[in-house]
Formats: sequence, structure tokens, C-alpha cells
Amino acid sequence: MSSKSIRTPSDLAIHGAAPAFASPVHVGRPNTGGRERFMVLAAEMFERGWLTNNGPMVQELERRICDQLGVKHCIAMCNGTIALEIAVRALGMQGEVIIPSWTFVATAHCLYWQGITPVFADVDPATHNLDPASVRRMITPRTSGIIGVHVWGRPAPVSDLQDIADEHGLALMFDASHAFGCSHQGRSIGSFGRAEVFSFHATKWFNTFEGGAVTTNDDELAEKMRLMRNFGFVHFDKVIHPGTNGKMPEVCAAMGLANLDAMETVLASNRAHYEHYRRALADIPGVRLVAYAEQERNNHHYVVAELDEAFPVRRDQVVATLHAENILARKYFWPGCHRMKPYADLFPHAGLVLPVTAAVSERVVVLPSGTTLPGGTVDTIGDVLRVLAQGT
Ligand SMILES: *Cc1c(COP(=O)(O)O)cnc(C)c1O
Repeated sequence: MSSKSIRTPSDLAIHGAAPAFASPVHVGRPNTGGRERFMVLAAEMFERGWLTNNGPMVQELERRICDQLGVKHCIAMCNGTIALEIAVRALGMQGEVIIPSWTFVATAHCLYWQGITPVFADVDPATHNLDPASVRRMITPRTSGIIGVHVWGRPAPVSDLQDIADEHGLALMFDASHAFGCSHQGRSIGSFGRAEVFSFHATKWFNTFEGGAVTTNDDELAEKMRLMRNFGFVHFDKVIHPGTNGKMPEVCAAMGLANLDAMETVLASNRAHYEHYRRALADIPGVRLVAYAEQERNNHHYVVAELDEAFPVRRDQVVATLHAENILARKYFWPGCHRMKPYADLFPHAGLVLPVTAAVSERVVVLPSGTTLPGGTVDTIGDVLRVLAQGT
């Protein structure tokens, strides 16, 4: 619990005062709202003696996700990255695939890992999502697909990307890792493009420890991905397709079922933190909270502040100042995939066509939220930013 008040620069831990929190307050602390339910389900799993291989809890989780998202098929997987790899392969992507550079690096790796070249397009400064005009400029005769990312759970420009894909005969899928429980034009994320991929990693809004899923309305594609997830097996001894091991174990599905039950509580807590941040940061010049469209559903898992040119302290200094208070705010996606290996070597000049990505990646701070956020965190962050905004 925060105990000190921060009114002047000398109150800051970076200048020698005691930190506001005795132990670290992280971004991405897991939401473990369904703990008791999980224990019951885990006990049932041991009774049953069925630990993995498309067990009853995986099947139930898939059914419940289909119902919740209004999509025909959900194929649960061991993590979001393998789910991306399997979806990319099932869609027959090859050559070049256009993605944003402003994303978690797995969106790029899932392509490169299987010999496909990720080509980075720029984003819209207002939404942080793919800029369709930039996507158009990146199309070459080798382009086979586009992966849109719903960054911060805000929908990518779905219909513009669909138009581009249709015009050029490209496969379109979405990395929806941030977007479980979010909507586009009132419809749940999960059934746009040919397929959408979720991550259920512990740091995500809805978690299964490690896990992920692909959702689609395409029967044939779903069947293919089910085969690929399990080495291509159709029966004990019969393999009819190349595949890998993408299976979700039962213990992870148990966590998923428990967390689905707790979802409304987690959402209410996230929304309250987000509203609190809005009030606490509203009067600080040069700080803007990334806003969400009122008419869409968002999980409010990511509280994203952007520092504009008016803010007198650089973003890295802001992050360092918060870290000194034991508030582990994060930069996120900095410096962009195109500046990470191996992509920085492959495309040394990519930055020339990604000016918005470069600018946004210098301005963003992701702030802690979630059900386990210690009391006082939001107000302390407001106090730190207010002191920094005065200049030091
Ligand atoms: C978390 C994440 C992934 C990877 O998911 P894992 O489950 O950790 O493998 C991919 N893309 C984005 C945008 C993510 O945030």
C-alpha cells in the first residue's frame, strides 16, 4: 500500500525518497478471479485421469467460447504463438505477409519461423492500428496475406482490410491476442477475416496459464487446424495430414473455465481502474489516455498513456521514475518489430516507411491494472506524472 505523498520532485524515489510501494506493482499481473472454481475442476481432472488430448474440459471451453463470441468453431491450442503458426499454415500463406510492426514480436515470428517474410506496414496515430493506405503500399507480387492486429483490444480496420484482401486475392486473418471480450460494430471479435487468433497467456485479460485458440466460421479450415494441432491424427493409428503438437492440456482448460465464470468481476474491476485513471490523469498537460469507442465493448486490460511533445520529460525517464517507486509500467512494442532481430538486419531501412510506428513507440507507457492492483496505485501514478509535468 502506498504510504507517501508525492507533491514535489524531492518526494520521488528517483531523488532518494522511499519508494511508494514496498514490492513491485507489475503491468500484466494475472487475473486469477476463478481460483476456487479452478481447484474443484482440477480435482475432477485427477479423478478422471484424463490430462490432455482433447479432454472434456478443452471441449467444454471451446463450446463456451463459440457461444460467447458467436462463432462456429474454436480450436483451443497450447499458446497463442503456435495458434498463429497453425492458422498461417492452414491458410496457405507464403512468400510475403503484411503485418504491423507495432505489435508483439510473435506476430512476425510466426511467419519467419516457417520461411515467410513479414512485411511491416505503418499504423494510424489515433488508433495504433494498421493504416490501410500503408498496407496497400506494401503489396507486391509475392504478397499472399495480411494479419491485422486488434491492438489494445480495439478493432483493426476490419472492412478496409477485407476490401484490400478481396481486391488482391489475399488471405486475411487477425491476431486477436489483446481482444478477447471486445467488439467491432457491436459484433464480438472472433469471426472476422478467415480466422482470428487469441492468446490466453497469463498476462492476457483472459488466461489459461499458457494457451490460445483459433476461431473461424470456415468448416474446412477448422477441420484442417484440428488435424494440424494433433500431428494429423484422425484415429489411434491413422495420420492423414502433416501436423505439430498444439494441444491445450486439461489443467489449462480448467483455468479457462474458471476464469470465464469470473469474467464479469474482472471486467468490472478493469473498468473501474480505467475510469479512475481517466479522472486521475485528466488535468495533466501532455498526458493522454488512449480512449475506447463508447459503442464498442473493450476488456480494458490495457491502460495506455501517450505522452505528447508538450510533456517536459521523455518517456524513458517517466518509466524509470515509476520503476523507482516500484510501479513497473512498461513501454510495450518499443522499438517496433522492424528494429528487432532478425528483422532489423533483413530490412535496415524499414523505419523510413514507418514514421508513425517510430513516433508512437517513443510516446507510449502501459500502466498497471487488473484485479490485484494494490489500492493507491492509480493516485500515486497521477501524483508522479503531475510532478514530472511541472518539469524538473
Ligand atoms: C501475447 C501475444 C502473442 C503471443 O501469444 P502467446 O500466447 O504468448 O504465445 C501474439 N500476439 C500478440 C499481439 C500478443 O499480445
